[in-house]
Amino acid sequence: MTKIPLPPAPGTDTHVSLALANSAVALPGQQRADDLETPEDATRWLADRGLVPGDTALLAYCQSQLTDLRAHLRTLFAAQAGGEEPSLPALSAVNRALTTVPSAPLLRHDQQSGFRREQAHPVTQLVEYAMAQIAEDAAALLASDEAALITHCAAPPCDRYLLRTHARRHWCSTRCGDRVRAARAYARKRNQVSPA
Ligand SMILES: [Zn+2]
Repeated sequence: MTKIPLPPAPGTDTHVSLALANSAVALPGQQRADDLETPEDATRWLADRGLVPGDTALLAYCQSQLTDLRAHLRTLFAAQAGGEEPSLPALSAVNRALTTVPSAPLLRHDQQSGFRREQAHPVTQLVEYAMAQIAEDAAALLASDEAALITHCAAPPCDRYLLRTHARRHWCSTRCGDRVRAARAYARKRNQVSPA
């Protein structure tokens, strides 16, 4: 499967939860691109955002935890964008991600260097810690005034979410905007040439 060829959607640079929601996308021509397709992809995605150390190797189990969280975030963003009631399983999943791990690094001590803070090490715990940070971002975003800006890209089949940066913008990228404009122009042309 191809990697996502679109530039990032507005809001994903400041909100990692939106970035995770957009880490898979439907493309024209019945194609899908997924940046979390394999455990290696998922590792790179988290490491690129500083959410796990670069030398982490996610297991397939961790990858599926992350894609599950992605599905639940998409459900919550869809509910917010559509003014609908969010589903309880999606809400619970975010709350579980928030509370599964104590987010504080542990306090360690040794003779030579004294006290230091250290993140607990097993890979599953690293991923849970990363997911807690993503869930924290989602919770903060959805409960803030910014939540009113969350919208779905208006250029089908694209299914990304974005924060509307100004009132008229409804697509995630110029690529999607151009596709909509081209489709409109094509439809206009066809209407003009069709017999009256
Ligand atoms: Zn789009």
